Amino acid sequence: MLILSFLPFIISIATTESTPTKSIPSSFYVIPLGTTGGLEENNLSAYLITSTTDNTPNSAYISLDGGTIRHGLQIAVQKNSLSSDTDVETFFREQIKAYLISHAHLDHNSGFLLNTPNDKSGKFIIGLNETITIIQDHYFNNQAWADFGPAGLKTYDYQILDPSSTNSVPIANTDLNVRIFRLCHTCPYLSSAFLISRRDQSNASVLYLGDTGPDDVEKIVQPDNTTSFPRYLDKMWKDIKPLVIADQLKAIFIEVSYPSERPDNLLFGHLTPKWLLEELKKLNAYHSIEKVKIIVTHIKPEKGAREKIIEQLKNNSNQHFNFIFPQQGEAIWL
Ligand SMILES: [Zn+2]
Ligand SMILES: [Zn+2]
Repeated sequence: MLILSFLPFIISIATTESTPTKSIPSSFYVIPLGTTGGLEENNLSAYLITSTTDNTPNSAYISLDGGTIRHGLQIAVQKNSLSSDTDVETFFREQIKAYLISHAHLDHNSGFLLNTPNDKSGKFIIGLNETITIIQDHYFNNQAWADFGPAGLKTYDYQILDPSSTNSVPIANTDLNVRIFRLCHTCPYLSSAFLISRRDQSNASVLYLGDTGPDDVEKIVQPDNTTSFPRYLDKMWKDIKPLVIADQLKAIFIEVSYPSERPDNLLFGHLTPKWLLEELKKLNAYHSIEKVKIIVTHIKPEKGAREKIIEQLKNNSNQHFNFIFPQQGEAIWL
């Protein structure tokens, strides 16, 4: 009797210490491994995401970009976003099932690349053909780094996604699907966005954008000096409109690199609060996005920039956008 009466107590301690849980119903669990847009090499764009069951994170994560991996996992353990007994090495090898890379810039890849020698084989690197080609030719070329791709050490396979396809495709070893969109990042250089959805729950999706400039600024100048604007953001907003209307989109991860004062000719394919609000207004015009969490990524770590950007987004918005400013290692339930 004595032993039995102690049992519930032991179980409840074990549950609170080993697994983060939440009382409000959730569909996804996100751990930001890195949140800044450069310079701080221990805090560069990377977001782990997994589905949840009964408000408990599932074990199979994917990494959206891979700027900082190992240090971000250590901070996540310190901040109790992963249980205190998590072995970072084992988690990295066993629980990150795929890397979805928005574009090949080093601030979105360096942590992932440096950790490749210790990674478990059989994972996919997922992205646009253009992104995978750069990884293959410029990183995994046996000069910049060993070839961990399918033609070399075979640690990874490549999964090329077609931006013209409207289908979501499964991410191996997870219960998640992905669809890709093209973005401009100093045109004609491409970046991309991933729409992540739960395979078992068609009502739950999140949209993760890599670096991008505003549609009104991103232009292609032809040799004969004619200019065209690809307007990839506009096209994407139109494509995800049905998800917003159906209340299925939980969050949009989108960048703001500089405060609004930054002149347009010095944006280098990035957004400011002014431009983010312009873009969100377009989506909001289709249907209110007040229930969609807007997770602001990629703030450049210049002195005072973060505070200024937060103020500019909160004060200049007469719409009720639900902004979240992620911190490294601090989990977000969606
Ligand atoms: Zn970047
Ligand atoms: Zn970039």
